[in-house]
Amino acid sequence: MTILGSGSEGNALLLESLATTVLVDAGLSYRMLVQRFAAIGRAAPNDVSAVLVTHSHSDHAANASTYAARFDCPVRATEVTARGMRLRASTRVETFSAGRAFRIGDISIRTRAIPHDAPQVALLFETRVTSVGLVTDLGHVPEGLGRFLSECETLLLESNHDPDMLATGPYPAVLKRRVGGSLGHLSNAQASDLLASLDHAPREVVLMHLSETNNCPLLARSSAEAALGDRGTKLRLAKQRQPIEVGAVHESQLQLGL
Ligand SMILES: [Zn+2]
Ligand SMILES: [Zn+2]
Repeated sequence: MTILGSGSEGNALLLESLATTVLVDAGLSYRMLVQRFAAIGRAAPNDVSAVLVTHSHSDHAANASTYAARFDCPVRATEVTARGMRLRASTRVETFSAGRAFRIGDISIRTRAIPHDAPQVALLFETRVTSVGLVTDLGHVPEGLGRFLSECETLLLESNHDPDMLATGPYPAVLKRRVGGSLGHLSNAQASDLLASLDHAPREVVLMHLSETNNCPLLARSSAEAALGDRGTKLRLAKQRQPIEVGAVHESQLQLGL
């Protein structure tokens, strides 16, 4: 898994199993996407099966039609998200229902609606060897989300803001209410509460969608570290402007000493 960018300036990540390649979210321009791949010494993939879009906000969806045209693949989204995106007429769309599972190649994908100010889904990607949860853009942790994530090996979890930094920061009052509200974004403490509540600690947690204005990486990290305790979970932070590689590929590279 490669997180190409994470945050309100644009989100995109690449999932690669043995047989299937999927782009998740399309918030970075195509040019930027290519630059991010170049930054980790590789070309953009040429065998993308789908561009999966979590919700219609532009930091996730703005370039979906461009990606679909460049990679010659469909956009996958819920019907309501597809309607809310500005897709070109030529873009192929395949919808899925929130709450239902579906497959793309050898990756099975479980979905669950989560509370945000646009219809939004948490995703759980499962292959024969691992599972990855992706949970960003939610205002609070709904009942049952911990259970949904109970078996995931790698968890990509929003840790958007520190409430004090948000309250005293430069955002206008209406935006502060939106971000901090129950349909906005998860605070560090909310993310930590979810981590602390998980029955099985994931092998790796990546904190996602950190605000560059209302959060600081040290605060997000120390909050999550305290919640995870000594359960042996590896903790990393996704970045807005730099790609990071996560999960099985990363592990095997480490084992090979690369
Ligand atoms: Zn977002
Ligand atoms: Zn959003």
